Amino acid sequence: MRGLKGKVAAITGAGSGIGRAAALRLGEEGCKVAVLDWNEDSAKATAERIREAGGEATAIKTDVSNEPQVEAAFAQIVKTFGRLDILVSNAGIFSGERDGKVDGLPKAVWDEIVGVNLTGMYLTCKHGVAAIKATAGKGAVVLTGSPTGMSGCTPANVAYGSSKGGVHGLSRVMAVDHAPEGIRVNVVVPGFTLTPIVRELVADPKVYEWQVQNIPLKRGAEPEEIAGAVAFLASDDASYMTGSFMFVDGGLTAI
Ligand code: ADP
Repeated sequence: MRGLKGKVAAITGAGSGIGRAAALRLGEEGCKVAVLDWNEDSAKATAERIREAGGEATAIKTDVSNEPQVEAAFAQIVKTFGRLDILVSNAGIFSGERDGKVDGLPKAVWDEIVGVNLTGMYLTCKHGVAAIKATAGKGAVVLTGSPTGMSGCTPANVAYGSSKGGVHGLSRVMAVDHAPEGIRVNVVVPGFTLTPIVRELVADPKVYEWQVQNIPLKRGAEPEEIAGAVAFLASDDASYMTGSFMFVDGGLTAI
């Protein structure tokens, strides 16, 4: 993809799943990669895989919901690589059965999910965009959204759906605010993605069949299939795209 070679990219939640696949892909495309995750071991493992493949990477233990840690992480990226061009704000948690309908949802669960999925993205964008402006000058931001951010397709997930709806709103306002500065902001909307945790949950073929029955392509996505869209949006091939949403969902939201 055009314009990725030699760029510096920071990816949050890059220790697993979509974030790891995006980090590996950007490494393959020639980016220098800062691998951020609150799980230090998994962040180090991703960075090691990038280096083994001949790329350049550094792992930084960061909880995206903790502002001093986020601020320190971006300072370290600029110190290590001298600049920042690309931010992939991806870290998130799925609330699953702890989530609920609004009248039964404990405030502690709401605070935790919104704190990581939405406040965490605000914090990484706050310090990441500042780092891009202060160093590369212009660049690209890719946020991980969700079909639940725009429809009630996952019932009784009020905290998760609200957090992702907030991410979608954040992306649009950021896109307009930073277009004059040459910073593009787009969202990848992954459908049912076979990350390690999800793969375990659907190990029983009957559960898997039930999960994919309403997906037109009748299967889940490999994390690498989402990572391709992330790399595209970060690249110069997407130079006229900002404020847009790329659905990588097997047709789920087309129904
Ligand atoms: P998905 O790729 O679908 O989001 P995963 O659970 O496989 O699913 O990956 C999410 C990644 O985000 C994990 O590596 C996890 O450690 C990371 N993560 C979750 N919460 C935070 C957080 N607050 N700060 C940094 N990383 C986080």
